[in-house]
Amino acid sequence: MIVLDNVTKSYGGFRVLNGCSATIRQGEVVVVCGPSGSGKSTLIKCINALEPFEGGQITVDGMAVRSPDVSLPALRAKAGMVFQSFELFSHLTILDNVMLAPRLVQKRPARMVRDDGMRLLARVGLAQHAMKYPIALSGGQQQRVAIARALAMRPSIMLFDEPTSALDPEMVGEVLAVMGELAREGMTMMCVTHEMGFARQVADRILFVDRGEIVDDCSSVDFFAGRCGPRAQAFLNSVC
Ligand code: ADP
Ligand code: MG
Repeated sequence: MIVLDNVTKSYGGFRVLNGCSATIRQGEVVVVCGPSGSGKSTLIKCINALEPFEGGQITVDGMAVRSPDVSLPALRAKAGMVFQSFELFSHLTILDNVMLAPRLVQKRPARMVRDDGMRLLARVGLAQHAMKYPIALSGGQQQRVAIARALAMRPSIMLFDEPTSALDPEMVGEVLAVMGELAREGMTMMCVTHEMGFARQVADRILFVDRGEIVDDCSSVDFFAGRCGPRAQAFLNSVC
């Protein structure tokens, strides 16, 4: 579903990603972790072309991200993205947030998009809030709306960048529960998170990123049994 092949990226003269390679298969849940500033967000953003990169290749469900003929709307419809800071449209209701891209980008009929939107809001437990504005919702609820909004494009992959890091602790669980359910339904997911409980329970694989390199790529079982490299082990000891 996602192939990273020797990806390199610099900001100015500063090399942020240094030869990253990995393959994520259909239905796999991959957690990306590593120290702050190691390049995790940059890596995720390169996958749906929110950041350009200068070396190597990324292929998303057969679409070469850097190819001049790739359609960015089609690529981003395939790979839904959820950010740490929700990024909801504050002037739109919850339902309109969820309906916006399917209407404007995919040009699907309003009736169908509305039915889909309500179904998605019900799935994240927020149907009763459909007509409210984001400001009326808690952080955890807003992040669940952001997940529903990404799902509204009917993506085949979901990318998460620290989706619970901006939340008060009591709201982390409700967002992780929605993500866990998505994983059980077979969604292919790549998720930057420091929630090691989630990683242990839900992830198939862990990519450990340090200084722009994927220094470990191992099964979740091996990672938590301490069978990855020493840097991953030191990181795990520091967060658990
Ligand atoms: P992480 O998500 O692992 O914390 P990032 O991908 O956000 O790491 O950042 C990796 C490195 O790139 C950091 O050193 C950061 O300061 C730098 N960086 C990130 N975004 C930019 C940018 N837009 N311009 C310049 N440097 C950046
Ligand atoms: Mg980050």
